[in-house]
Amino acid sequence: MTDLERKQERTPVPSGWTYAPAPESRDVVQLRDRYGHFVGGEWLEPKETYPTISPATEETLAEVGQATSEEVDLAVKAARGAYENGWSNLPGSERAKYLFRIARILQERSREFAVLESLNGGKPIKESRDVDLPLAAAHFFYYAGWADKLEYAFPNRKPKPVGVAGQIIPWNFPLLMLSWKIAPALACGNTVVLKPAETTPLTALLFCDVLRQAELPPGVVNIVTGDGSTGAALVKHAGVDKIAFTGSTEVGKAIQRELAGTGTKLTLELGGKAANVIFDDAALDQAVEGIVNGIYFNQGHVCCAGSRLLVQESISDAVIEKLKRRLTTLRVGDPLDKNTDVGAINSKMQLDRITELVEAGKEEGAEIYQPPCRLPEKGYWFVPTVFTNVAQSYRIAQEEIFGPVLSVLTFRTPEEAVEKANNTPYGLSAGVWTEKGSRILWMAQQLKAGVVWANTYNRFDPTSPFGGYKESGYGREGGKHGLEPYLKFDSEAFGG
Ligand code: NAP
Ligand code: MG
Repeated sequence: MTDLERKQERTPVPSGWTYAPAPESRDVVQLRDRYGHFVGGEWLEPKETYPTISPATEETLAEVGQATSEEVDLAVKAARGAYENGWSNLPGSERAKYLFRIARILQERSREFAVLESLNGGKPIKESRDVDLPLAAAHFFYYAGWADKLEYAFPNRKPKPVGVAGQIIPWNFPLLMLSWKIAPALACGNTVVLKPAETTPLTALLFCDVLRQAELPPGVVNIVTGDGSTGAALVKHAGVDKIAFTGSTEVGKAIQRELAGTGTKLTLELGGKAANVIFDDAALDQAVEGIVNGIYFNQGHVCCAGSRLLVQESISDAVIEKLKRRLTTLRVGDPLDKNTDVGAINSKMQLDRITELVEAGKEEGAEIYQPPCRLPEKGYWFVPTVFTNVAQSYRIAQEEIFGPVLSVLTFRTPEEAVEKANNTPYGLSAGVWTEKGSRILWMAQQLKAGVVWANTYNRFDPTSPFGGYKESGYGREGGKHGLEPYLKFDSEAFGG
């Protein structure tokens, strides 16, 4: 019997407690049976449609459009028209008013958006309510503040908008990624064609309602739904001046190849395989909470997830024991239940990918732990999983799993931690847990990652830039840095 099993025998396991169901009401969301594309401020009847479902129940929620290249063309033309018919020349203070309005409406309608986000994407309501929605509104507030201050952000550089921005976003934070893309683009005077992910189009479509409520001029924001072929049509369109993409490294590379030599501006926010590094002097209970937040938040569908845990060898048994115990208390199930910690996996496709990598982990020789857990019969689910005895060469230590699966490795010295942490083609984020301030600063310098969190994980703020190194992409979103990809600069300002 292991220490953990002995302890579990002595103490009642908290997961044995029964929680009364605490479902959030769906009534606040009024879904239509069928949605078109939002082009030039109007709903365009789609040529083809597909069903969008709830991954927790597999029920169809609505039919949405599958945009063809002709429909994408109409959206780009509408964006171009709006750009030329005044949006790009509007004083920044006027553009700001629209952004402030959008931010306030998102706050007012946040419950409706949070419920819809959980319904269509499978994430727990407490996360969409407390993380996605507040951050989405905060992004609009933040960039509204910059709209009339661009000359101060870039003194003597005469910033000008780029033109029409094509924006392609993933399914893990649908409304939040929309906000990261649309807010800075509009603040800088661009117009937009946005494509949400195939599996999570509904909050983007509800957002069109917000745009109308805010009386945003028609054509400034256009939304076309569809699968990857719609995204590809947007990337190929000659009328687009800038592409902003968030998603897989594979598709990011394909887009980069497509745009090479065209002069179209491009930013890529791609995958990650972040190291969360725990030193022996760290506050262990807090670190365990940070590990859980790092990998099980949003079912691990997080590009900056702390999916590789690096623990100092002297404390690894203690940390793993605490972690396993903590996992038994995670509640997996109905995303709309306010007590749920881990919701549904976003799609069948993603579930298959997670399952495949977990099988590979077992075959390669890692030791798997999954807490006892009853999963709903319908829908897509995966039990929070920890792998120990992981070698650096295993697929589960190399590849992005994008699910609730943690790989644990150990190290002895800080130098070894750095070497292992940086041993990845990615470089999006990292976490460091230690009591020593000097070690935090040293680690932050050594780690090749766009964001390094110290004694915390997955913290976001619109004022701080986010983005990657190496195969995690380039360009920054958030902060003053996030304005730059949406601006071009008059070189005459340098006197040249
Ligand atoms: P993806 O295929 O790269 O999707 C991202 C977005 O690009 C979606 O809107 C997607 O449409 C679209 N797209 C697909 N093929 C395209 C193409 N050839 N040209 C232009 N746009 C295209 O990623 P995914 O399918 O959502 O997930 C696959 C993997 O990507 C995940 O396992 C994960 O590793 C990674 N990922 C990373 C992030 C991140 O935040 N960095 C987010 C999500 C996923 P469809 O929705 O129709 O595919
Ligand atoms: Mg895809």
